[in-house]
Amino acid sequence: MTTINWLEETRKRQEALIATTQSFLQIKSVLDPATAKEGAPFGEGIRKALDFALEVCSEAGMTTKDVRGYAAHAEFGQGEELIGILSHVDVVPEGDGWSTPPYAAEIVDGKIVARGAIDDKGPTMAAIFAAKIVMELGLPLSKRVRFIFGTDEESSWKCVNTYFETEEMPAMGFTPDADFPLIYAEKGLTDLTLRQTKEAFEAKAEKDAADVQAKLVSLQSGLRMNMVPDKAEAVLSPKALDAQAIIGKYRQHLEANDLKGAAEEKDGTVVLRMEGVSVHGMDPGKGVNAGTELAHFLNGLTLDARAAGYVRFADRYLHKQHHGESLGIAHNDEEMGPLSLNTGVLEYEAQGDAIFRLNIRYPHSISFDQWSAVLAKHGAEESFELEVVEHLTPHRVDPNHPLVTTLQRVYTEQTGEEAGIIAIGGATYGRSLDVGVAFGPLFPGRPDSAHQRDEHILIDDLVKATAIYAQAIYELAK
Ligand SMILES: [Zn+2]
Repeated sequence: MTTINWLEETRKRQEALIATTQSFLQIKSVLDPATAKEGAPFGEGIRKALDFALEVCSEAGMTTKDVRGYAAHAEFGQGEELIGILSHVDVVPEGDGWSTPPYAAEIVDGKIVARGAIDDKGPTMAAIFAAKIVMELGLPLSKRVRFIFGTDEESSWKCVNTYFETEEMPAMGFTPDADFPLIYAEKGLTDLTLRQTKEAFEAKAEKDAADVQAKLVSLQSGLRMNMVPDKAEAVLSPKALDAQAIIGKYRQHLEANDLKGAAEEKDGTVVLRMEGVSVHGMDPGKGVNAGTELAHFLNGLTLDARAAGYVRFADRYLHKQHHGESLGIAHNDEEMGPLSLNTGVLEYEAQGDAIFRLNIRYPHSISFDQWSAVLAKHGAEESFELEVVEHLTPHRVDPNHPLVTTLQRVYTEQTGEEAGIIAIGGATYGRSLDVGVAFGPLFPGRPDSAHQRDEHILIDDLVKATAIYAQAIYELAK
């Protein structure tokens, strides 16, 4: 058996790799409904980028197929089994503040700087050149290898959904669209709404307490389910407590608990504002939820019966319950980590609906039906109805699967580093494959410039990733 120096083979093709990657990045492939048409459902730019990738593949001798512009593939090798490499040619809009033009793909300090350099056109070209190396070396393969190019990964994933309606699902595969060493497990993701209508509350015929201190007119906090809200505002109508007394209590509460906020009297009402710390909803314990903090304060007042139920629910089940502890749905998975609960939006209208919008992420060892039934039951206690807005099931490839062990071995051989495998709370493109993992392109310790201004890929990393992908393709398909 001859050993192949994959890095050496990549270096021989380095100039072409860089130039082709630059040309690819110079195509502005942002979603553009204005130029969408038959065969180009996401607009002209994305269509051009797709054609460019297919052209490089067919010049290398691969056979290609276009699935109505939603996605396309390029294939080589032979055999029954199919190995997939899934990547995307679309990019997010460039935004402002770049040091060099975002579609110039200039080389600055050993980096190619462009929108899409790391996400995902740079690594797409690295993987194509990796395949070219395998093909040009004439290595015998016993499997087919197929590149699948998606076109709206950054928006709705209609590309892969449409593609897999008619095309073959690879037996296994990887996506070069996240981090090295390897992401093998992704939590289930849900967006949920707990909604209590005015009618549902009135049906309970609950009476206000005799000594109501204030009536809650409205409460508003947060915009997105997957973010911890950093602002909240409540409007109260004073009853047994006058406006100044409520304001005094609130200021005292803020000071005693080291919280930031403000209170003012306005047209006979009291407006309370809370400030928190916004972080991503996958790890809500790292932030301060302004909405549940405010509900926690309000639960210390005697409010009208409907508001009392709303803030009681928030305080008991949601406030600082980042894993659903008091709901009784907390679950820790040794591999994938705990269930996480984020209350991203709170909306209360005395004359309308009372709503909590939640983002719950859960590991594979607890079933959705199991925990969502418990949540629904607790919601029903206060006449809330549970709606599932979005649900992606957990995605996991067995750590002993040859896909995982092979890629781990390749990574270690190419880098000399141990290839620890990663479970995450987010979602990668890898979950579009039945048996799929994310494999690169971002190396450990590198700052992630995806979706940022001055997005870039280090040329050294582009070359290293190409060598890794070349060996990976060969080892998986040989
Ligand atoms: Zn991406």
